[in-house]
Amino acid sequence: MRVPLMAGNWKMYKTVDQAVEFVRGLKAALAGAGGAEVAVCPPFTALAAVARELAGSQIALGAQNMYWAEEGAFTGEISPLMLKEIGCRYIILGHSERRQYFGETDQTVNKKVKAALKHGLTPIVCVGEQLAEREAGRTEAVIKTQIDGSLAGLTADELAGLVVAYEPVWAIGTGRTASTRDAQQVNGYIRALLAGLAGHGAAGRVRIQYGGSVKPDNAAGLMAEPDIDGALVGGASLQVDSFAAIVRAA
Ligand code: 13P
Repeated sequence: MRVPLMAGNWKMYKTVDQAVEFVRGLKAALAGAGGAEVAVCPPFTALAAVARELAGSQIALGAQNMYWAEEGAFTGEISPLMLKEIGCRYIILGHSERRQYFGETDQTVNKKVKAALKHGLTPIVCVGEQLAEREAGRTEAVIKTQIDGSLAGLTADELAGLVVAYEPVWAIGTGRTASTRDAQQVNGYIRALLAGLAGHGAAGRVRIQYGGSVKPDNAAGLMAEPDIDGALVGGASLQVDSFAAIVRAA
């Protein structure tokens, strides 16, 4: 069976000191919690310090973005080699905020996914429709374009090792969570798309998270759905109490 992945996307929050203090608290709060896999994705500046603090714990480290080249004249960018070296296991790719504010496209996400896999990082590939797209009945068409484009050219084995995060844009940071029914429906659709790309066996191994206003009081309901294999948590992952409660709901 799929082990749920409960990941905190800290976005552009927390200094190094705040990050280290947080993970100390999180380790204590999660002592004895079993079942789900847990990951935190701090900003780049805090990754190394958090990696040291997580050494020997069950909590995995992820980053929020990277460039696809191994090195080069790419001012301001971070490479997969650099993330791997400091102990990252996961890499969030194609988050809607990167698509919206930083020009990320399915094509750039695809290059990053391939680079991540080449270096042994597990991509968390984000997809999700905007409110106007949902209201126009275009949710499935949008998701299909994003999945086909972001995951083009992968082998079935590569696909099976991925994490996909369904994050409806209208639910991010708004307090407006997708209903468990709507979230399950899209996650199930994503699994069907993956089966079309790589077969049912591979699709059955992919962990498909839900993200968008996940909170302690709605996490258990979402996690009970058959095709929701974890959460990508923004705001509620910034406090130890709320993130630990969400992890325990898995
Ligand atoms: P919120 O949990 O703050 O809605 O953010 C979700 C998200 O974007 C996680 O990547």
